[in-house]
Amino acid sequence: METNFSVNCPYCGEQIWMEFYPEDGAHQEMIVDCEVCCNPILYDVVFKGESSRVRCERAQ
Ligand SMILES: [Zn+2]
Repeated sequence: METNFSVNCPYCGEQIWMEFYPEDGAHQEMIVDCEVCCNPILYDVVFKGESSRVRCERAQ
């Protein structure tokens, strides 16, 4: 299953590659600082076979 996802930072728009693991849960939420602008991004991850997806939004 795909574990690498690309998102665009909701602050600076930079493309970020993140790795998530289905073993950690079918639905995951976490806050990770953007590598580029250091603002906190809230990640919302759903593992569901081919329709797995990641969304991100501003955490503050
Ligand atoms: Zn950023």
